[in-house]
Amino acid sequence: MSPTHVLVLNSGSSSVKYQLLDMRDSSRLATGLVERIGEQTSRIKHTVAATGDTREQNGPIADHQAALKAVAEELAWDGLGLDSPELAAIGHRVVHGGMFFSEPTVIDDAVLTEIERLIPVAPLHNPANLTGIRTAMALRPDLPQVAVFDTAFHTTMPEQAARYAIDTKIADRHRIRRYGFHGTSHAYVSRETARLLGRAPEDVNVIVLHLGNGASASAVRGGRCVDTSMGLTPLEGLVMGTRSGDLDPAVIFHLERVGGMSMDEIDTLLNKRSGLFGLCGDNDMREIQRRIDEGDAQARLAFDIYIHRLKKYIGAYYAVLGRVDAIAFTAGVGENAAPVREAAVAGLEGLGLAVDGDLNAVRGDGPRLISPAGARVAVAVVPTDEELEIATQTYALVGKGS
Ligand code: ADP
Repeated sequence: MSPTHVLVLNSGSSSVKYQLLDMRDSSRLATGLVERIGEQTSRIKHTVAATGDTREQNGPIADHQAALKAVAEELAWDGLGLDSPELAAIGHRVVHGGMFFSEPTVIDDAVLTEIERLIPVAPLHNPANLTGIRTAMALRPDLPQVAVFDTAFHTTMPEQAARYAIDTKIADRHRIRRYGFHGTSHAYVSRETARLLGRAPEDVNVIVLHLGNGASASAVRGGRCVDTSMGLTPLEGLVMGTRSGDLDPAVIFHLERVGGMSMDEIDTLLNKRSGLFGLCGDNDMREIQRRIDEGDAQARLAFDIYIHRLKKYIGAYYAVLGRVDAIAFTAGVGENAAPVREAAVAGLEGLGLAVDGDLNAVRGDGPRLISPAGARVAVAVVPTDEELEIATQTYALVGKGS
């Protein structure tokens, strides 16, 4: 029988998240996380899916090579090591695929070179992704390894949505355009939303609101992305946990010229110390809600700014799509924070949008509708599953034939 397991690797600068799935039924076999790679206090936490048993090891893990070896040892412990004959492929999350990669791609030298060429537009993410890929390839050179790009789903955006209104020659020379991120999630959630409605993705227009610590919105027409809120980098768009999202670019000139800040300081300010955190000192929506319940005005204002931006994007994407069949909330905040969902569509009855208070309050694991029966536009909570989507795309590309 052909091998049916796919290992999904998400390599960050100091962490590696992994999941092993059996594609016969898309079930999880194992999940885990290596964190603080390169420090003395590294940790690997491994969970065996069938039993829920976890194993944890603390102690220095010097680099990604050591991290992947530790992952391989954990998997081998359960008879599922990297040398397992059941392993069909490894799927890698790659953040930036530029304009070049619109599909999942089997990795070879040319693909590695292209991912490397994109480092100037993804300086934090692509080097870490590459390290993970190279290490995995060294461990299993014979195994198909597939890159699944966060940007791929957005490559269908038309030029009027993808281009900034700046000098075209300069933009092209430096590959400045709107690429969008979280694409694997937007692809998965828009398709699952169509399934929830009992319709084909080709027939459905969806606004997807991926609200995690990072947050982005997308407008999906008939299964194809036509606009998304993140741009050249994940900084553009919605108010996020620690990122500002949209602002007047002149704020940057002002901070440099009048505020005396360096470009690196401004970069850190806008990416790491802004958004909800910059506004009220907390980036976790649970904590913000708790503070609001206690009457905290700063937390309230942060929440209101977050919701105001969200509403503007719902309105904008409504106009971009013309007809909207569903709005889908996903990721940590979207799946769990009922007050955010309620506030985001409050007052939009004129657009056919409403949330049923009882349905919205119900906590659940699966995709579900929270709009009143018979509503013109469905409002849904659709849990995202980026690892499953990466595994599915990887297996579709290589698994069945190997
Ligand atoms: P990311 O993958 O971007 O790190 P997630 O999608 O895991 O983020 O979302 C993390 C965020 O989800 C947390 O920072 C928190 O704000 C929010 N969150 C998680 N659980 C809840 C909850 N029960 N209620 C409100 N917000 C929640």
